[in-house]
Amino acid sequence: MRRDARRVGPGYPRPVRPRLGSSLRCDACSAEIDGVPSGRGLLLFPRGDSVVREEPPLCERCSHAIAMTALFRFDAEEDEG
Ligand SMILES: [Zn+2]
Repeated sequence: MRRDARRVGPGYPRPVRPRLGSSLRCDACSAEIDGVPSGRGLLLFPRGDSVVREEPPLCERCSHAIAMTALFRFDAEEDEG
């Protein structure tokens, strides 16, 4: 079984791939992404007994900003106890 094949099915949307003639946009700022996204977000939606998972594309600026914010918050929580 291919790795991608396991991720397609109930609870997993199809992987987002750029199509010819269409542009991919950052999910955070809507900037056009040229080529492969620099990063992806992770959204989880509980739906009954399953969880719907989405990995929206992010531009380089937003993927760095979101990652640094997460690291800062994680570090702040570690300092609090
Ligand atoms: Zn962006």
